[in-house]
Amino acid sequence: MTTLSCFDLGERMLGVVEARDALLTLVAGRLAAEKVPLARAHGRVLAEAVEAPFDVPGHTNSAMDGVALNWSTEDPGEVFLQVGEALAGQPFQGRLGDGECIAITTGAPLPPGADTVVMLEQLERDGDRVRVTRADRVKQGQNVRQAGEDLRAGQVAIAAGRRLEAAALGLLASLGQAEVRVRRRPRVAVFSTGDEVTAPGEARAQAAIYDANRYSLMGLLQEHGAEVIDLGIVADDTDALVEQLADAARTADLVVSSGGVSVGQADHTREAVERLGRLTLWRIAMRPGRPMACGVIGPDETPLLGLPGNPVACMVTCLVFVVPMLAALEGRSPTQPRWKAVAGSAFRSRVGRTDYSRGVFHCDADGTLRVVNTGNQGSGILSSMVSANCLVEIPEDTDSASIDDIVMVLPLFRFS
Ligand code: AMP
Ligand code: MG
Repeated sequence: MTTLSCFDLGERMLGVVEARDALLTLVAGRLAAEKVPLARAHGRVLAEAVEAPFDVPGHTNSAMDGVALNWSTEDPGEVFLQVGEALAGQPFQGRLGDGECIAITTGAPLPPGADTVVMLEQLERDGDRVRVTRADRVKQGQNVRQAGEDLRAGQVAIAAGRRLEAAALGLLASLGQAEVRVRRRPRVAVFSTGDEVTAPGEARAQAAIYDANRYSLMGLLQEHGAEVIDLGIVADDTDALVEQLADAARTADLVVSSGGVSVGQADHTREAVERLGRLTLWRIAMRPGRPMACGVIGPDETPLLGLPGNPVACMVTCLVFVVPMLAALEGRSPTQPRWKAVAGSAFRSRVGRTDYSRGVFHCDADGTLRVVNTGNQGSGILSSMVSANCLVEIPEDTDSASIDDIVMVLPLFRFS
């Protein structure tokens, strides 16, 4: 059974962190794992650790084109007899004696008896005699990559819960992995509510507004790894909505709606959810962000989050609450990246409330992060979200931030 801590929190005002922690308990059960070909694994999350099946590199090899020789004797001398060559993929068969060398290319295995590579630019040739110029500068072991210096056989190469970005894909390929076990993508059903809300492409009646939230939500959710189920704008009919939600509860891991959760609003969303499960209205000490609703529906108690209708509030609450839930579903860390920046403008807040302003940060010539707000911070001003590259978080215990104060910025783009 799902922990219903969300419902135990009651009617009092909640802090952002306690609300988020309660929501994370609703998605604590992990998604099933599936095998996918490596070429299709970009952006997916590793379900189990991958260990190196062999040493990487697999053999001690040269980091340069040049000659391989033994520099460990007391006085290696300057002139060496070239007795063969090693190319990448074509090792030299045999053992080097003192005073002998082989020509070697980058990546080719060092033969037994060799411990050092001297690069071409430092050599003079006379037939099969090779002279090392500036022998005093040669260091034993130079230009050699040791077997296992990257990874030892059996060592964890990539931990479970890691999102597979470009470098991780390359590493898995270098370990010979043609398939990887990743978490199934979280499936999130999204819908909008409101009589005034109209789908883009349709005629806009007087006083109607186009449905912005479903598109910004679908974008955010996809950016953070979800597979979106688009339920559209829900009908103004409780029976139809019950049917739609029952269906969503069966196929989705999470249901997210926007609008229609204000206290006192005659709302068929709430009625429909309550027929299928439980719903609680939350008052969260944040701005923008109120009101929000949290519920579970269907036999599996699929979590449902009702976000505010205001387009900025909708995106901010998605970033602060839903994005960490996606991380938890996939087995990633729900901690979001945040950096300190110097305020280049004032940021409003109030003690007892966490404020999220839209900001633009940049790195100045000294390498210091600086952030300014995007102007009008009204929670319906979606263009402020478009010009922003971060949210500026002013915590509960802080009144406001003035120019030159240090503030926390949360990047809007996906960071890992
Ligand atoms: P609500 O939370 O339903 O009271 O809505 C608050 C404000 O957000 C109202 O001005 C709504 O018109 C607006 N709103 C609600 N849903 C959407 C939506 N899907 N897209 C754009 N604006 C919306
Ligand atoms: Mg409404």
